[in-house]
Amino acid sequence: VHHDVVERHRALLDAVPTGIWIDNASRTAATARTFVVDDPATGRELTQVADAGPDDAMLALKQSVAAADDWAATSPRERSVILRAAFDLITERAADLALLMTLEMGKALPDSKSEIAYGAEFLRWFSEEAVRINGRYTQSPGGTGRILVTHQPVGPCLAITPWNFPLAMGTRKIGPALAAGNTIIVKPAAETPLTMLALAKIFAEAGLPPGVLAVLPTSDASAVCTPLIEDTRIRKITFTGSTGVGRILLGQAAANVQRTSMELGGNAPFIVFDDADLDAALDGAFAAKMRNGGEACTAANRFLVHDSVAEEFTDGLIARMQALTVGPGYADGTTLGPLISEKQRNSVAQKVTDAVADGARVRLGGEQARAEQHGGDGWFYPPTVLDEVPVGAEITRGEIFGPVAVISTFGTVDEAIAAANDTEYGLAAYIYTRDLDRALSVSDRLQTGLVGVNRGVISDVAAPFGGEKQSGLGREGGLEGIGEFLTTKYVALTS
Ligand code: ADP
Repeated sequence: VHHDVVERHRALLDAVPTGIWIDNASRTAATARTFVVDDPATGRELTQVADAGPDDAMLALKQSVAAADDWAATSPRERSVILRAAFDLITERAADLALLMTLEMGKALPDSKSEIAYGAEFLRWFSEEAVRINGRYTQSPGGTGRILVTHQPVGPCLAITPWNFPLAMGTRKIGPALAAGNTIIVKPAAETPLTMLALAKIFAEAGLPPGVLAVLPTSDASAVCTPLIEDTRIRKITFTGSTGVGRILLGQAAANVQRTSMELGGNAPFIVFDDADLDAALDGAFAAKMRNGGEACTAANRFLVHDSVAEEFTDGLIARMQALTVGPGYADGTTLGPLISEKQRNSVAQKVTDAVADGARVRLGGEQARAEQHGGDGWFYPPTVLDEVPVGAEITRGEIFGPVAVISTFGTVDEAIAAANDTEYGLAAYIYTRDLDRALSVSDRLQTGLVGVNRGVISDVAAPFGGEKQSGLGREGGLEGIGEFLTTKYVALTS
């Protein structure tokens, strides 16, 4: 069935620069080492990329600092034009980029295509924001002076990105950083460096000057990131990943008082009230659960369904989950690919086992998917639905990051809100109700940065994305996104 994935896609893979990207060129690592990038659908090697270490990090920083003043001095329109050109190139090459993403990340091709479109949008949006960085000019209350407020780039940035959205988690940092006039060094996830390296090449073609963007693939994140954060020339750290790593980075950033933006873990509740349009709720539930194969920090992690509609909701969700076609993401007709790695697949399987021990009932799936069913040896897990999950069971505590729907029930609105907020996380929540008053009052009471009302997909390039509590600090996208990469200068003038 599979088998020469690499042979079949050789031209595509060969076109990706696999070195360390510094000064608009691909180079070998200082140590000359490489590491392997796997195809999650087969567990086999796709290609190898340069393995950056501290020396490469320092060279990238040197070039980033050297380029910083000239880049900051470019006109907003110049930066805008480059970002827009990068958007256009991604859009032109969307099919190849989507396939590349599926090869290294595993997700079904339709998911990769939508991420390419979504990821590219951040470059278009911030190309439009680059020319709208405003300040203000006002009089002091006593009439004794004038106040001039301007915004300036924060300085060289370090971006650390995860594997689940290999393009979009990069572009929503790179877009605003460049639009604001900063240079940026990106440390992509070791699982998915290829998409980011392909993006770096696109930026060079789009006219980005050398030194402004560096990409450091590495098998040892800390060996590259720690020396960069310890260097006071890095002025901002922007991270998407786990809460645990976010805490480490915040601790490191404290030493030099660097700015941080942290997009961390989530544990999204999806609340279905008794007055919900159930068909719409099921479509939304399926999207909120299964977009990106369940590997999203906004994924519906816990379904909280009113007692009176629970059975109908559960049956409907089972039907939708059953209709998924599991297979290699690049195979025709696949709608659910493998998980990213063996570790992740085993973690999902363990969570399901624990949930059953806690009293959950398996309504669909639950058995580790056998490789031969999918034509590969990769990290497959079948669509799974658990119901009668006790509120507060271990599986409702942390991110599942896989195709497992966890259903619990509630009686009153207060019970639903208490259960929804009973988590250390606070990224996204979803509610389905036809009652506008209820939608707004429940939204107010949910301790999350994002709420979807009768919508299963929330993320929008024009809206501020970010979490409360242990889900992070700062916002990406929207009008707010560029502010994270600007500092405020107040100039006092006499009247
Ligand atoms: P996940 O569990 O999704 O892999 P992580 O938080 O472990 O999430 O990883 C997100 C990103 O953070 C990846 O690019 C990873 O390499 C990087 N990372 C992990 N540990 C560290 C660290 N100690 N310092 C800097 N970056 C790290």
